Amino acid sequence: MSKSSEISGFYKLSIEERVKLVKGFVGLTDEEAALLQKPSALSFDVANRMVENLIGVLPVPLGVAVNFLVNGKDLIVPMAIEEPSVIAAASNAAKIARKKGGFHTTSTDPIMIGQIQVVDVQDAHNARFEILARKEEILKKANDQDPVLVSLGGGALDLEVRIVETFLGKMVIAELLVDCRDAMGANAVNTMAEAVAPMIEEMSGGRVYLRIISNLAVKRLARAKAIFAKEELGGEEVVDGIVTAYAFAASDPFRCATHNKGIMNGVTAVVLATGNDTRAIEAGAHAYAARSGHYTSLTTWEKTAEGDLAGTLEMPMAVGLVGGATASNPIAKLAVKILGVKSARELAETIVSVGLAQNLAALRALAAEGIQRGHMSLHARNVAISVGATGHLIDQVAEQMVAERKVRVDRAKEILAKLSTS
Ligand code: NAD
Repeated sequence: MSKSSEISGFYKLSIEERVKLVKGFVGLTDEEAALLQKPSALSFDVANRMVENLIGVLPVPLGVAVNFLVNGKDLIVPMAIEEPSVIAAASNAAKIARKKGGFHTTSTDPIMIGQIQVVDVQDAHNARFEILARKEEILKKANDQDPVLVSLGGGALDLEVRIVETFLGKMVIAELLVDCRDAMGANAVNTMAEAVAPMIEEMSGGRVYLRIISNLAVKRLARAKAIFAKEELGGEEVVDGIVTAYAFAASDPFRCATHNKGIMNGVTAVVLATGNDTRAIEAGAHAYAARSGHYTSLTTWEKTAEGDLAGTLEMPMAVGLVGGATASNPIAKLAVKILGVKSARELAETIVSVGLAQNLAALRALAAEGIQRGHMSLHARNVAISVGATGHLIDQVAEQMVAERKVRVDRAKEILAKLSTS
């Protein structure tokens, strides 16, 4: 008889009791259950307050990318990621960028959009007019919710109202524009959107439904630029190759998804290392890439008059230094300290520099070397580990698989068995 996963009161159990229950449910061994409960730098006590139904903590490798020069400042960049090659590639691209002055960045103010959806409005344009006419009243109500944010120079700054055509008819969407200072801002903005909803409902004559932040943070953009010298890249043919690869991505969504994924390798790794919300950034990135209705590249690549390569990256970057896991995860706090950034904007600008570096590294590898070779040997090591290779056997199994061009679990098992008995 199969067991039911309908478990009421799971959250009331202690962590040990939860592990015991999961252990019994799936038949974990004592060793496996003990692994879940192994202590980490993020204590169970803290983690248990961060999410619900906690049974363990998943470690992710944390490395640092070196060589980063951002606006003339030398940085060591913490990156949390499970994928091999990414940190080395970012460091390498940053080294190339240094030769021409490193990364130069700008950003907008940290303004997020809070949406209030109004349905069943008889006269949408009239409602829009009425809401906008009482903007100051609405902004005051929003700002009353967060005196701390206002005292720091942030808060609700403006209100916009759009009429959106849907298959259920016209909807009136009021949008609060909130300067979130050094917070990512979702909680702050959601609280404001909820507080002003009854006023907006009354002014519109309709019914308010959703009151929620938008992750398409078009008013919270970070930008990075760098020049990569042709001789550092391997010649003008490589520059041309990168521009050609970029042209493909810019025009074809199948290529572009992977191109932008390469950017996000760097972006997400720093977002995660600093305890920020990776899903918020990823949702914003891809929605921004598709904002014209045609999904395209977040970066641009051009050849300069001197034949060098100029790259830019512009994307929404809703990251914070306060709130969320940034404040509760001790390793994330340490990562921010290592990075040495003092504001959310500075953090955002560093992250896009890493994204740009990552994209350069991937495009260069694709255009110049063929990405597969270097990647394969690292992948082979992971396959070797996954079948139980340890110590020097990891490299031996990996090397043989690469030499045979058979990087597969079944082959790894065979080689490991042979090496272990010889
Ligand atoms: P928060 O509410 O914990 O912190 C923000 C608050 O901190 C501000 O409202 C302000 O009162 C205070 N504050 C103190 N010092 C500040 C400073 N220097 N700058 C700005 N504010 C300062 O967190 P948050 O940033 O509002 O929300 C982030 C969390 O919301 C994340 O954990 C995220 O995962 C989560 N979240 C995201 C979404 C989404 O992206 N769609 C939705 C819901 C929740």
